[in-house]
Amino acid sequence: MELWQKQLSQSVVKVKDLPFIPDSEEYRNKLEEVRENYPIRINSYFLEQIKSPDDPLWKQVVPTLAELDDFDSEELITDPLNEEVDMPVPELVHRYPDRVLLMINNQCPIVCRFCTRKRKIGFPGIVTRETLRQGIQYIRDHSEVRDVIMSGGDPLLVPDKELDRILGELRAIPHLEILRIGTRVPGTLPARITENLCAILKKYHPLYFNIHFNHPSEFTPEVEKACAMLADIGIPLGSQTVLLKGVNDDSKTMKALMHKLLKNRIKPYYIYQADMTEGTDHLRTSVQKGLDLMKDLMGHTSGMAVPYYVIDAPGGGGKIRLLPNSVIKHTDDEVVITNYEGKVFRYSQTNLENRSSKLSSTEKVSTDICQISV
Ligand SMILES: *Cc1c(COP(=O)(O)O)cnc(C)c1O
Repeated sequence: MELWQKQLSQSVVKVKDLPFIPDSEEYRNKLEEVRENYPIRINSYFLEQIKSPDDPLWKQVVPTLAELDDFDSEELITDPLNEEVDMPVPELVHRYPDRVLLMINNQCPIVCRFCTRKRKIGFPGIVTRETLRQGIQYIRDHSEVRDVIMSGGDPLLVPDKELDRILGELRAIPHLEILRIGTRVPGTLPARITENLCAILKKYHPLYFNIHFNHPSEFTPEVEKACAMLADIGIPLGSQTVLLKGVNDDSKTMKALMHKLLKNRIKPYYIYQADMTEGTDHLRTSVQKGLDLMKDLMGHTSGMAVPYYVIDAPGGGGKIRLLPNSVIKHTDDEVVITNYEGKVFRYSQTNLENRSSKLSSTEKVSTDICQISV
């Protein structure tokens, strides 16, 4: 057995083994109720990194009774992104014109308490050989799909041989230009990034990774080594971060995380506003909080360190980018804008062609909206 397999097999999955929880029978019994709805998994590597109950890592993986509080909410649901509706075949989401999300596994190295797919992760029998066969066949049959995002569950928990086979089958599809893997493995089970895995991955370029990181303390020496191995075999690395109350919802932490990412050759890609998933309300922040964090990044640090802040629209509208407002006024003659220091600048566009007559109707609409929002 390899180290990562051992760390996975020694995961905490039972309430009685959770670190730093109240020593009350009643509390534990109630947590049992939480566990029945949402499984627990903390692999032994990740467990070792948790130093106290205030630890941002603790908040991400140890269940609390708050997960039961929003059960009767009318707004929070089990499938907030309406993924099940956009599945032409099981476990493949085709939402955008030219790319699909394919679940090749539904197990994860840790089970995140804020998971958008709480309804699926860790339960047996969801992704099977048959769903995978149908998913790959769907991509083969749809020549408009030029980009596949393998997600899950965590694609890197698939055994080497099986992963090799899946990547090989996808790479053999002529219209599929790029392959992407969305994973939390490098930051939560770094021993999984082995020489053997790297030898497999590098056969399938262009292969992109988006790695889930939420806090700078996730970067241990083991994690930095795992990321370096992936960068060294030429995989362009991006990140995904979920904005979480009490974990990373302050400027200092978020900026430190973005800097850590860049130092490890990972380009910050997305910060997600937390989805409206049942059982996760206690970890959500307001959207204003996200906009404020973006404002504290933009201009104050390398542009490279500033990801897109998005809301994955409830109901299945896809990702929508949000920016703090920098346009004070926008007319045919001028644009008045403000910079990161709050200073105001005027850009003139008077007499640049006869603009208004050339505006298409859609451009006109967006100009109007800008003016209204002033
Ligand atoms: C996020 C997502 C994608 C990929 O989106 P990009 O903005 O291209 O990274 C594709 N399909 C689904 C269903 C998604 O949620």
